[in-house]
Formats: sequence, C-alpha cells, structure tokens
Amino acid sequence: MSELIRTRFAPSPTGRLHLGNVRIAVFNWLFTRHHGGAFVLRIEDTDVERNVPGAEEALMGDLRWLGLEWDEGPDVGGVHGPYRQSERGHLYQEALAALLDQGEAYRCFCAEGEGSEETRRYPGTCRSLDREEAAARAEKGEMHVVRLRTPEAGTIEIRDEVRGDITFPASDIDDFVLRRADRRPTYNFAVVVDDVTMAISHVIRGGGHLSNTPKQALLFDAIGAPRPRFVHLPNVLAPDGGKLSKRHGAQGVEALRDEGMLPEAIVNYLSLLGWSHPEEKEVLTRDELVAAVDLDRVRASEMAYDPDKLRWVAAQHLARLPLRAVVDGVRPFVDRSRFPLSDPALGPAMEALRSRLSAFGEVNDHLGFVFPQDGAAWDELRAALRRDPEGQEVLREAHASLEALEGWDREGVRTAFKEAGRRTGARGPGLFHPLRKAITAAESGPDLGWICVALGREEVLHRLEAAMVA
Ligand code: GLU
Repeated sequence: MSELIRTRFAPSPTGRLHLGNVRIAVFNWLFTRHHGGAFVLRIEDTDVERNVPGAEEALMGDLRWLGLEWDEGPDVGGVHGPYRQSERGHLYQEALAALLDQGEAYRCFCAEGEGSEETRRYPGTCRSLDREEAAARAEKGEMHVVRLRTPEAGTIEIRDEVRGDITFPASDIDDFVLRRADRRPTYNFAVVVDDVTMAISHVIRGGGHLSNTPKQALLFDAIGAPRPRFVHLPNVLAPDGGKLSKRHGAQGVEALRDEGMLPEAIVNYLSLLGWSHPEEKEVLTRDELVAAVDLDRVRASEMAYDPDKLRWVAAQHLARLPLRAVVDGVRPFVDRSRFPLSDPALGPAMEALRSRLSAFGEVNDHLGFVFPQDGAAWDELRAALRRDPEGQEVLREAHASLEALEGWDREGVRTAFKEAGRRTGARGPGLFHPLRKAITAAESGPDLGWICVALGREEVLHRLEAAMVA
C-alpha cells in the first residue's frame, strides 16, 4: 500500500471500554503499525448529555495499558492528548458554510427539523427556498437546521474493503440534517468533517456503522474530498448469540486488568475476532500480530465473543513468560491473600501452578493445592492413610529418603520418591496417591516435586509425619 495510512479510533466518552469497542481500536492500531502510518484518537463528545465525567481519562488509561498508543494529538504535558469533537466546532462551522455556499446544503425552517434527524423522512419542503432569502431569515434569528441536498433517485454505491461493493437505493436517504437548530453538528456530519480534516485513509469500524456509510459517502462527495476506504469489521455477538454490549456479554477492560490478565493476551484474542493468521496461528505476540494483520484476512461474517477462548489465549501467553515475570505478576495478589509467601517459596509454587492460570489474580484459587486448609477433610484423609498399611510403608520410606537429602530441589525430591518406590515396590498411583494425599490433601493436582520445593523440607516432613502411624 503506497498511500499514507491514517486511521482513527473514535469512541464516545459514555462509559468504560468493553472488549467490543477495544477490538476496533486493536484492529486500527495493528493495521496502522503494519503499514507504518498514524493512528489517531478522537473523542466523539458532541452528544453532551451522554458524556460521562471521567470516561475520557478512563478510556485513555485503558488504551495505554493495552499498549494501543495513539500517534498525535494536542500536547498535554509532553504526551499526546486526544482530539475532541467539542474543540473542533470551528471546523464544522467552516465546512458547513462552504456547503451552504456551494448549494450542497440548505437551510430548513420546518418545525420537524428540530426533532431527531433520524426518525422521520423529510419531504424536502425547504429544498427550493431561495438561498438569499433563507440566509436573511437565518440572519434575523429564525430557528432552522441545515440539511444536505441528497440525490432523489438512483443509487448510492459504496465500496467496503471487506464486503465489496454495496448499493443503496437513493430513496433510502432523505436530506438529512447536518446542523441542528441549537447549532450542534449531527453525528454523521462531525464524523465526516473530522475524517476529511484528519486525512483519514481507512475508516475501520464495526459493522453496525455500515448503515451510516451511504450518508457519509454522500458527504465526502459534497465536500469534494476523496472517500476514505471503508472497512467494516464483522459484528461480534455475545456468547449467547445476542447483540454484544456492555450490559450484555461484553467484559470491561478494567475488570480484566484488575484480574491481572496480560494486555498482550487481550490484544491477541481481540485480533482474532474478525481476522485470522495466514497459518491459522492463534497465539501471537504483538510483534507477530503487527507483522501479520492486514485487510485481506478480515472476514465479513459475524462471530461470537468467546470468554473461554480469551482465557485459553491468555493462559498460553502466561505460559511463555519467564518465571520471574510470573512471580512479579502474582506478587500483589498473593500479598493480599491468606498465603503470605516469600519469593523462595513463591517461585517453585508458581512453577507448579503457572500452567493453570489465565490471569495473575487467579493464583489464589490455586494456592490451596499447595496450602490446603486444615479441617475435617484433612483429618479424615490422614486417618484413612493411617489405616492403609501399604500407604504407610510408602510414607515411611519417602520420609526417610527426604530426610536424608542433602539439598532441597525438585530433582532431589523426585529421586527420593523413586527410591521409596523401589524399596516398597509401589508404583504409579500406589506410590503417588499416598504421597500426594499426605502432602497436599488431594488426589490430584500440580507437580508434586515443585510443591515440595515450595513447602520446604520441614513442612513436607511434618505433613508426612502427620499422616503416619506414630
Ligand atoms: N463514535 C462511534 C462509536 O463509538 C464511532 C464512529 C466511527 O467509527 O465512525 O461507535
């Protein structure tokens, strides 16, 4: 692609970002990084009543945490701020004046013009008003809206990079409002003026916006600006097949961040919602995504958000981290838990547990494997072990071998278990069930060698003794 790539993410500051919105940012960002270009953040805040205080800061925080930095914007203390529609009123004003001048737009004094521009089809009453006369009425302060003069017959053709050419009958689109009676620009008008003035080359957004596209295409034409390439990503459904929204099925970025999910994993999973790798690889680093993401493998058909798949991708990313990063990642969660562990214990515990995690915060659900709670269940297990002569033999021999170990590492512990097996003739479950029950109060679980290292020699010997007949 030889043209200069410029994309934008254009959220409304109406709440926290959920995975459905973030997917749009992810795709814009990856596409832009792939080609080299500029990714712009534009806050669509003209709908003042819907703006939520703090939402803008929160969404910028979420984008930064995800590593989806934008490339330009007003300088705010050395970093790029966002562009805000509320600060671009002069641009809408200028564009509107030009359209009025060229006769592409006209003033409309009909009362219904003051209502919502979306609901009723406008019959074109003020289309043929004399331009000077209309200007004079407006000058005198008469309430009016400004409408675009749209084709009355024929078709409107748009090209979508994913879905191909799409034809809309011109009769579907009436002379829609560009500026409301209170002088605020309408949504479609502000979007197009912004896309023109920001020289956006690719409008990449959700399939839900496809219905706005013919109106926007007409506006680009009226302004005399080349249309950008439109890329409508497939709609994402909620896991149950309904429409995905914050209230329905979509998780917030904030919740995943609080849980300690890796941002790389979230970006990876979201990239797969509508795109696939040429070799169908699913676990990809950010660099691999940047290298691979392009328009040709974007699909048009809708798909469902799959939280289990997100967890799976996240677990794969976590599994690839060095142990040090895992320990650092779980540290704050462990510190808040009932298992205050120092690094020498946490390291081996994480060797044992890391493959079970899709987010650092889940660590506390699994530390119970290493540190079962005392209680009736523990006592019963120990009592049962005491009534099991073969199990007792295993425990005794393992205790002796472990006690005699010089160092205390996973290899040594495993060798001690093997020796106990050799001496007692126990193998497989006959060997490991009694050991595991005595040491962890469970029949199955993470690697017993790492658990023993995490517990330390004294604690392991103590647990074996507690299950042995004195
Ligand atoms: N503000 C719109 C939204 O939040 C995006 C507009 C666009 O991408 O054209 O869905």
